[in-house]
Amino acid sequence: MTEMYDITIIGGGPAGLFAGFYAGMRTAKTQIIESLPQAGGQVAALYPEKMIYDVGGYAGIKAANLAKELEKQTRLVGTEIRLNETVVDIQAQADFYHVKTNRNEYDTRAILLATGNGAFNPRKLAVEGLDHLEDKKIYYHMPDVEHFENQDVLVAGGGDSAIDIALMLEPIAKSVSLVHRRQQFRGMERNVQRLQESTVKVMTPYLINDVREAVEGIDVDLKEIGTEALKATHFDKLIVNYGFTSSNKIIKGWEIDLAQEHRMFAVDSLMHTNMKNIYAIGDGVEYPGKLRLIATAFGEGPIAVNQIMNDLYPGKRGPVHSTSMFEK
Ligand SMILES: Cc1cc2nc3c(=O)[nH]c(=O)nc-3n(C[C@H](O)[C@H](O)[C@H](O)COP(=O)(O)OP(=O)(O)OC[C@H]3O[C@@H](n4cnc5c(N)ncnc54)[C@H](O)[C@@H]3O)c2cc1C
Repeated sequence: MTEMYDITIIGGGPAGLFAGFYAGMRTAKTQIIESLPQAGGQVAALYPEKMIYDVGGYAGIKAANLAKELEKQTRLVGTEIRLNETVVDIQAQADFYHVKTNRNEYDTRAILLATGNGAFNPRKLAVEGLDHLEDKKIYYHMPDVEHFENQDVLVAGGGDSAIDIALMLEPIAKSVSLVHRRQQFRGMERNVQRLQESTVKVMTPYLINDVREAVEGIDVDLKEIGTEALKATHFDKLIVNYGFTSSNKIIKGWEIDLAQEHRMFAVDSLMHTNMKNIYAIGDGVEYPGKLRLIATAFGEGPIAVNQIMNDLYPGKRGPVHSTSMFEK
């Protein structure tokens, strides 16, 4: 027997997180399923260092901090947040839905799609046959830093997070190298300056051309951009930080038929899709006047959740203000 949820929210971006908070206020048994190992959607994955000025209540907040605050707020009400898990199929049952992820299966009375542009996944190395080394010698997500204690580590990438990872490992690892295909780093000037002052060995402009498993660690061939010359290197571990890709293709294989307009879910003013008890909010929806903004996503969540509760439990008491919950 799988546990029955009232609401399963697919996607842990701003839309899904705030809807998850609101669903908790309505005492709905709710879970959020997010494919990345971190919550926050685009805000955390694509522009964590950017300042956001157009969210109510903040005269300016760093994107990474908004994502953290949203997650904290959602966890206040007991909504479960399942990270690192991707929904791969939804099957309609008599009066509920069966949700399959790459790791588990759940039953749920209602589904709230907050999938944005689709499931985020880390952009991987363009080298075949490395799957068996993932999370052993090659990492696309940062695990606990102990994994790199006294190790020779290669970090690949040119953005702020690649630099942050290299600097974070500097005092822990035996050696840290950073490889980037351009001469210049995309990171913020302050970060790049810290990198220049560190012991991190910077290798530019190089691209990873091949990776082979060695008895101890891995052999990595680097190709110099421009000359095409190959440089043979050896490391214990490799962390790849090439950003993310997002894909909505996965939805096409789902057993249920969801009407889409311009590859977005078509919804009515109650955020209802064409399927009974399936709603959609956030960047992944289309309706006249739709704005792809965080503020809009925040507004759509409570509309959808209240409608779901009306549909599932007609007659149940309606919306409450947060103060009546938290000041008890
Ligand atoms: C560079 C940039 C700057 C921006 N600046 C601003 C700004 O200043 N102000 C503003 O208001 N807006 C800004 N935006 C837009 C804003 O980020 C989006 O409107 C907002 O993130 C939409 O939230 P969402 O939750 O709908 O979607 P997303 O943030 O895209 O989150 C969707 C989440 O769903 C997950 N997901 C999808 N499919 C699955 C699946 N099958 N299983 C599990 N998980 C899944 C994805 O991994 C993702 O984390 C900016 C966008 C970009 C790209």
